[in-house]
Amino acid sequence: MEKSIYLLPGDGIGQEIMAEAVKILDWVQGQGLASLAIREGLIGGTAYDRTGTPLPAVTVAEAKAADAVLLGAVGGVKWESLDYAVRPERGLLGIRKELDLYCNLRPAQVFPQLANASTLKPEVVAGIDIMVVRELSSGIYFGQPRGVETLPDGRKKGVNTEVYYTDEIVRVARRAFEIAGKRSGRLCSVDKANVLECTELWRKTVIEVGADYPGIVLSHMYVDNAAMQLIRNPRQFDVILTTNLFGDILSDEASMLTGSIGMLPSASLGDRSALYEPIHGSAPDIAGMGVANPLAMILSVAMMFKYTLNLPEVADRIERAVHRVLDAGLRTADIMQEGMTKVGTVAMGDAVVKALA
Ligand code: NAD
Repeated sequence: MEKSIYLLPGDGIGQEIMAEAVKILDWVQGQGLASLAIREGLIGGTAYDRTGTPLPAVTVAEAKAADAVLLGAVGGVKWESLDYAVRPERGLLGIRKELDLYCNLRPAQVFPQLANASTLKPEVVAGIDIMVVRELSSGIYFGQPRGVETLPDGRKKGVNTEVYYTDEIVRVARRAFEIAGKRSGRLCSVDKANVLECTELWRKTVIEVGADYPGIVLSHMYVDNAAMQLIRNPRQFDVILTTNLFGDILSDEASMLTGSIGMLPSASLGDRSALYEPIHGSAPDIAGMGVANPLAMILSVAMMFKYTLNLPEVADRIERAVHRVLDAGLRTADIMQEGMTKVGTVAMGDAVVKALA
């Protein structure tokens, strides 16, 4: 059955890395491994320049109609002085909200070929393969009341509110249990149940959901301990499930264990939509220079085949091809090591396509 893929290259290196992702899609199509209907749209600063808004209505409509959205990156110096409401980043937050993407998957995997890239000792990070499942559409980033008010005595008061409803916890917890079932069968839920009632509810609800997944070993950890354990002994983790705020912080911490921002993909899933993107931004400092690492984008394509298009064998094949080009010693500037061969964005994409074959 034909699947519809909506491409949103966005700004900066988003354009360059998307071109390499398209080569992978074309290869998969060419081999008859999938039938894809590919369309492309505007988001971010590029969309603002052409339409006056970082998230045109047509982009939202097309993204909603697609089976999966592939996004490059948004943002750049050019748009930094714009009103907050029309900044490129509003396009990204807006599309996540419009598609009701509540489950964010952030794998942090250390490629053996790049174990030296981490700031931690290679023996600590070797073999890391963590999946952080972050609740993405609720919690303190959205809870009411929020804001800053001036009190009668002249002091200011700033408020944000952590709010979770049980159904919001249940739906993301189910995703995490299912993912753990496809991996090692271990799930660690991270909260602060000792001091935050809202996350006490989180913990109780996750335990209740766990009753439906008897094959999964569920554990719990307070977030402060989890932050320490991720540095002390990261290999103890397989799947980590956590709230929006804690997930924001822990997923960045986990990804930096790997030491290479240009290698890390992500997925944001809803019940009807899915969006795949590298974790990095538009890298204005190297945009247009042809040196950006396209592998995070290409690995996001692999995640799309695994989680939305239900073609795990295609995903495996793409991942294996990435390993092969690293084994062959090819490196973009951000992951360059002594004795390796430095290549640009296009050459790296071409090498992955060649390795696929
Ligand atoms: P960034 O991730 O764009 O760049 C951080 C550093 O990593 C830069 O030195 C950059 O050159 C490097 N880098 C990032 N991706 C790379 C790649 N694929 N290959 C090689 N090097 C890479 O973060 P930033 O500089 O803080 O933000 C730049 C712009 O991106 C801002 O406008 C920001 O708002 C936006 N941003 C967008 C997203 C997104 O679209 N999801 C995420 C983060 C930041």
